[in-house]
Amino acid sequence: MLRTVKRTALWAGAALLTAVLLFCVLVVWPDPLFAFSLGTGKIVVASDRPIPSAGGERFLRDCERLLERSPLKAKSRRYRVYVTNENWRQRLFFLWDPKPWGLAYGLGGTAFLSGANFETGRVVHRGYVGTPPRTLAWLCAHELTHLITYEHLGLSRFRMPQWAFEGLADYVGIENRESFEQLRDALGDRPVDIPMMVQYGSYPRYRLLVTFFIEKKSWSVDQLLHTTLTAEEANEIMRADAKR
Ligand SMILES: [Zn+2]
Repeated sequence: MLRTVKRTALWAGAALLTAVLLFCVLVVWPDPLFAFSLGTGKIVVASDRPIPSAGGERFLRDCERLLERSPLKAKSRRYRVYVTNENWRQRLFFLWDPKPWGLAYGLGGTAFLSGANFETGRVVHRGYVGTPPRTLAWLCAHELTHLITYEHLGLSRFRMPQWAFEGLADYVGIENRESFEQLRDALGDRPVDIPMMVQYGSYPRYRLLVTFFIEKKSWSVDQLLHTTLTAEEANEIMRADAKR
């Protein structure tokens, strides 16, 4: 009896380990599951559906342009972005968390977008179509900024506070970036709700903090990458500054 239990446990353990290893291989090398791809420059996009050339090329150009004006310089020669339109693929690559529109596997160096309409430049997430400023190019630049952050920090990325990590990605991805004053006046003191996210991007308050430190405190991007301030402390500094 004990031997059977032991054997079953051993098999279950081996099966789980194989599944985890297979998942890791897929995250690092997803190409066999994506039949279509486009791009010969800095960014290559791969998809499980045909990519219309005009829309696809516009998307690559827009995402590349957003990254070029980023204060955080990209280190790699090329980045690969994968679009998971089909339900099962979306579920597979977004296994850890099905809610986000995009995911960056920092250690694998790959980024995934939930679903795309290249012709309109919109994100399609489980039937929901994203609206500007959260466009497909925004999502691409947002996720690639996460990958670039990993390139700079490695595992220390996990020491970077969430407001700086997400705020920077949002700051880079937004096409028409508001000045600090514009964004502060627009957000006011109201809590972050869905309409606010629709209008100002995913992490408007985090972006406000990042905008403040970069534009008002003249922080270098290195200071931002290595900050240890919590969101409360960062907010406190921003509020104190407004009173002066
Ligand atoms: Zn993010």
